[in-house]
Formats: sequence, structure tokens, C-alpha cells
Amino acid sequence: MKIFVVNAGSSSLKYQLIDMENGSVLAKGLCERIGVTGTITHKANNGTVYTADTDMPTHLEAFEAVIYALTKSEAKVIDSFDEISAIGHRVVQGGSIYDKSCLITDEVLKDIEDLSELAPLHNPANVLGIKACIKAFGKDVPQVAVFDTSFHQTMQPKVYVYPLPYEYFEKYGVRKYGAHGTSHKYVSERLIDIIGDKSKSEKIITCHLGNGCSITAIKDGKCFDTSMGFTPLDGFMMGTRTGTLDPSVLTYIAAKENLSPEDINSICNKKSGILGVSGVSNDNRDVHSAAQAGNERASLAIDMQRYQIIKFVGSYIAAMNGVNAIAFTGGIGENDSALRAEVCESLTYLGLKIDPTKNAERGKEIKISTDDSAVDVYVIPTNEELAIARDTLAIISK
Ligand code: ADP
Repeated sequence: MKIFVVNAGSSSLKYQLIDMENGSVLAKGLCERIGVTGTITHKANNGTVYTADTDMPTHLEAFEAVIYALTKSEAKVIDSFDEISAIGHRVVQGGSIYDKSCLITDEVLKDIEDLSELAPLHNPANVLGIKACIKAFGKDVPQVAVFDTSFHQTMQPKVYVYPLPYEYFEKYGVRKYGAHGTSHKYVSERLIDIIGDKSKSEKIITCHLGNGCSITAIKDGKCFDTSMGFTPLDGFMMGTRTGTLDPSVLTYIAAKENLSPEDINSICNKKSGILGVSGVSNDNRDVHSAAQAGNERASLAIDMQRYQIIKFVGSYIAAMNGVNAIAFTGGIGENDSALRAEVCESLTYLGLKIDPTKNAERGKEIKISTDDSAVDVYVIPTNEELAIARDTLAIISK
């Protein structure tokens, strides 16, 4: 059985075709510059790459280009899209409505559209993607929505309500929703699976450290707390986002620099974090190189991010009254062994010990703690597409 996984942005479309027999990727690709010009880069599992510049005024033409790439191009992997059993869509915001993935109906599509107020940059693009996909593939192929927020719906009110006048929660749904849920769910399920003994995975912490970063506390397999909030801006500092800061800083800067709410939003989302502090780049690798070359702001940015990660991990250990296992994932979590070592170093008081040789490994699933460590620490590469495909398969199999 083959499942097609779609992640639609406002001008882009990422996709993978996954063979569910073994979870392997048959092909993956990216359409870019939708609405402007249009290019597709499509890679088959045998290494053949097909690229083309084709007009993509809307997402529909992008899907048509993808269908051509999958079925007719030199990098084709199937003869017809009839071979695709279902399509899974990544949807950013499911609000308080969707605590799990679901089959997309007209009603679900309307809900996703209505939830755009909570995710103005993402949900409208997801809706465009779903609508165009239904047009391109026809109504007979089941389409499933997998929400980034669903996994976090098990948080309790004491965790997700903000200490603002309660009416904003009631009137506008202003609360913590979290994000990266598909990744935290995938990594935590994998971690629980590897550990095997349920009593040794009751309290776990998953650290998704990529361009966007979030940390989640998981009790008995369910999200207990997570660092991202009303939007993915909350938590700790990321590539270009601030994470948590004193809100009065923003009103102060807005007054000083005569900035609108939109300006502030853009500064906090796009110009801050590692990029804002270092002035070098949003990419940790560039910032590391600059720090090694003696750039003090680059060093500061790295130090700040590590310190904030340690604070979040520590606070979740307190919130859960302990931790059995910690997993690192995402581009930084999977590759930056120095960061992992520093975070683990701060937890030696718990009896956590890491094996430096194992920790030096990169980008593969591995236990990096010693056998006598009181807390298991793992690197688990995330696979959001596979998680979406599995949910999609589960929904259509019902
Ligand atoms: P996204 O959130 O866009 O999916 P990724 O999970 O790909 O991001 O993570 C991107 C981040 O991972 C970048 O900051 C990049 O510098 C970092 N990264 C990737 N490889 C390494 C590495 N070998 N060492 C340190 N950081 C790395």
C-alpha cells in the first residue's frame, strides 16, 4: 500500500510517496515558487532526479506537476496515481477541536479554514493544498488531516491556560496549543518502543531541536507540557524566533521604534533567536563556525540557546517529578553532540551519565547514555512524514 504525504506552504509543496510495507520512501520532492513561476525537484528512491520549471499559478498546477513526476517523468516510481491508497496532509493548527488525525470532509475543511485565525501563516496554505489535492487526485482518494497540535491536546488546563483575563481564552481561544506534535509523538512512541519496559518510560522528555525548536514532557505516553504555546513562537530561542520573553520588552521597543503589531510579530519570528543575537545566520552550523573564529556574539547565541534548553528540560523534570528518558531529535538534536553533552552535563545530579563515544555519533538512532545511567538518553531521528503516513493508514483502515 502506498501513501502520499503532503506538506503545503503558501508558495511551496513538499511531498513524499511512502511504501507502507516497509516504511520506505519511494520518491520525494518539492515544488517551489508557486504563484510566481514554479519549479519542481523530484527524487526517486533509485537516485534519479527530475527537475523542471513549469508554470504553477496555483497549487493545482503544482500537484499536476507532481503527478507527472511520479507517473511519467524519468524519475517515475508508479504507473498511475490509482496506486496511491490515501493522502495525508500536514495541518499546522487543529485548535481544541482535533485531538487526533481525521478523514477530511467538507466540515473538517471548513474547521481548518476557520482555525486560520490561530495560524494565519499556515492553515490557509494547508487549505489551499488540500483543496488543490482533491481537485488533482479526485474525490475517490481518501484524504486525511494530521494536525501538529493534536498530540498536545492532553495537556491539562493548568498547563494550557494563560494567566490573562479569562475572557480572552473564552472569546478567542487564546491558550497554549503547542506545535511539532507529529514529531514529538513519533519520537516518544519510538522511545517507548525501544525501551520496552513501560515502567522505564513513564516520564520522558523529547527535545526537537531544528530551525524551530520545542521540548515536550510526556507522561505515560501523553503530552503533559510543551514549550511552544499559542503559536510556535513560544518556548526557547530558535533559528530566528525569540521564544519566551518579558512581554513588556515588546511594548517598550514598539513605542521606541514606532512599530506596529505586525512589525513586532515579524521581528520576533524572523529576525530574532540565533540570527538576531549572533548577527551571523539562523543556521547553527554557520554560527558555530563564526564562534570558533572568535565571534563573541556567535558564542553568546550558542551559550544562550543551550542554557535555555537546560532550563526547559529541568523545569519539565520538576513538573513530572522525575524523568526516565530523554530523546534528542531535529537537525541540531541529531547532529550537535556538544549541545547534547552540555545538556546532559547539567543533569549529572540525577545520576545521568553519557558515553562520549556514543554521543559523538551523528544522525542515527542510538542510546548515548551509559548502561548504569539513571536516565536513558537517546538520539532518535524524527520522521514526520512516516508518522503522517501511519496515521493516514490507520484512519483509512478503520
Ligand atoms: P527544520 O526545522 O527546518 O526542519 P532541521 O531539523 O533540518 O530544521 O534543523 C536545522 C538546524 O540543524 C540548523 O540550525 C542546522 O545548522 C542544524 N544542523 C544540521 N546539521 C548540523 C550539524 N552537523 N551540527 C550542528 N547543527 C546542525
